[in-house]
This record gives sequence, C-alpha cells and structure tokens, in this order.
Amino acid sequence: MSKSEVVALDVFDPKGLEYMRTLFPGVIEPGHPDHDSWLDHAVGLFVAKSRVTADLIHRSKKLKFIVRHGAGYDNIDAAACAEKGVVLCNIPGVNAISVAEVTLALTVACAKNLVLIATQMRQGETPNKRVKSLYSASILTGKTFGIIGGGRIGQLVAKKFIGAFEGKIILYDPYISVDSPGPWASIPHVRAKSLAEVLPMVDVLSLHVPLNPATKDMINLPLLKSMKPTSILVNCSRGGVVNEEDLWTSLKEGIIASAGVDVWVHEPPTREFYGDIFDLENLVISPHIGGSPAEVQTATCISMCDHMKEMLDG
Ligand code: NAD
Repeated sequence: MSKSEVVALDVFDPKGLEYMRTLFPGVIEPGHPDHDSWLDHAVGLFVAKSRVTADLIHRSKKLKFIVRHGAGYDNIDAAACAEKGVVLCNIPGVNAISVAEVTLALTVACAKNLVLIATQMRQGETPNKRVKSLYSASILTGKTFGIIGGGRIGQLVAKKFIGAFEGKIILYDPYISVDSPGPWASIPHVRAKSLAEVLPMVDVLSLHVPLNPATKDMINLPLLKSMKPTSILVNCSRGGVVNEEDLWTSLKEGIIASAGVDVWVHEPPTREFYGDIFDLENLVISPHIGGSPAEVQTATCISMCDHMKEMLDG
C-alpha cells in the first residue's frame, strides 16, 4: 500500500505531526494539492474536528480506517462507517486527566464566583457583599456530586471530588454493571437507577457521556427544574448533551445557581453566535479546552498514529 494513502483531514499539533510524518512519510496534510480530493485516494484518515458525514463516507472510494483524535467521535457518522465496512477508532483516555482538571476548575470557579469577581476587580470595581455571596458562593466540602457517565473521565472526576471535597458521589450510568462495576468497585459511591432520581439530590452535576441520539438534550428544562436552586451544572462532555436554550433560561431565572460550560453546540463558541449569553454572571465559560494542553495533544496524536499503523499493517 502506498504511504500517500494516509490523509490528515485536520491540522494536528507540531510534535505529533513530526511523529506522523516519520511513520507515514507520504501523509497528505491540509494545504497539500491532493488534500481536497481525499475521497478518491484516502485509505486511512486522521480526523479531529472535521465533520465526516454519511455522504462523504459512502462517496469515499478506498477508505478503510478512520482514527479520531480524542474520545468523542460524534462528528463522524459511525453508522455509515459500519455500513461501508470502515473501521472507526477513537483515542479515549489520553485527555481524561486534563478534562477532569477542567471539570474541577469550572466547579470551583462557579462555587466561588471567581470569574465575575475577577472581572469586576479588573474593571476597577470593588466586589461588594452582594457579589461576594452571589449565586452559588458555596462550600463544596462534604457536598453531593452527581456523575452522569462513569467512563474514564467520570471515574477521575469522582476521585477528584472525593479527594478535594470529601464529596458524596451519586453515579448514573446504566451501562456499568452493578455486579461487576470495574474501577468503580474502589470508588465510594451510590448508584442511581435513573437520571431523574439523581438531579434533585445533587449540589453539583457533572456530565461525562458521549453525544449520541440517546444523550442529545438529555438535560432539559423539566429536569433542570427538578434540581436545587443552589446547584451547579458542569458540562465537559458535549454541547448537545444539554439543551442550551433550557440552560440559559435556567441561569436567567435562577432555576439553578450557576453553570460551567466547556463544550458547545456551536463550536468554536463565538460571541457572534452566543451574544449576551457570554455576559451571564452565573455562567463560567471556556472554549472546549479539556484536551488542549500541548502534552495531551502530542500524546493523543502519537497514539492515533500508532493505531493507524497497526490497522494498516493488519
Ligand atoms: P468513556 O467512553 O470512557 O465513558 C463514557 C461513559 O458514558 C460510559 O461509561 C458509558 O457507559 C456512559 N454512558 C453512555 N451513554 C450514557 C447514558 N445515556 N447515560 C449515562 N451514561 C451513559 O468516555 P470518556 O473518555 O469518559 O469521555 C466522555 C465524553 O467526554 C466523550 O464522549 C466526549 O464527548 C467528552 N470529552 C470532552 C473533552 C473536552 O475537551 N471537554 C475531551 C474528551 C472527551
């Protein structure tokens, strides 16, 4: 097989790219004259954020393998891959520590109103008592933390909530067996049978599920209304898991106290699109930074290349 049949659909981190070029000397990168015609010649495809639709998959002439940089692969039509016999593989786990850290950071920023207070101080205002105690402004120690999705990231986040805040953990993940819970055997927690059961009980709700038809808009207004008005929602999974309009309504109307959001329905999240949502005092925002650290990008890219090599070598 010619090495030029490997195509990088997106731009990857420089160190990872060096490794890619060593392993696949003819790799076709963005900017290469043959890049736009990848449908005709790509056998192996590296994908980060680009959308690979069912139409593209069915029109591809030689495609056999796709490796997605990172854990979530909702930008690639997995059903079409299965229909066409294209093997789709993701690289979960490498960015889990970083995502767990961002989750913790957003939780603390919400609980302490850190962003609002810092903004006011930068603007020359002295945050008054009202602002200092606004919204959640709460103690996290000893509180109840709901984890939705108990995979690689959910487990790490649970351990961090326990370690940092002596948190009580409630887990909802119907795909993890109660009888053989794997790593959850050593994480103190209570299992919930339904999402509806978890929400009214928690002080912090943290989402760690993939985006798919079953999880799309999983968190919506009726469920948000069942949460405590003092509660915090943190979303480091995918934007579409939460109905955004419902979340903005909940923040504006004080249905929940605050939210930390790293992932968006429209990415990259711009002020042009989201407008004054970015100004909500009780919303802490970041632009999908869970997997951003350079060391995570490099490690993910290296693992992605190794997977592709293994598959191409059969
Ligand atoms: P994982 O596959 O290890 O875990 C996902 C868990 O969700 C599994 O245990 C699964 O059983 C559970 N789950 C699936 N459907 C569910 C449902 N309907 N209800 C409850 N639980 C359900 O994945 P992971 O590595 O932990 O990553 C989780 C998600 O985090 C990814 O799919 C991705 O969307 C997101 N992510 C975000 C960033 C970021 O930068 N913010 C980075 C990496 C991953």
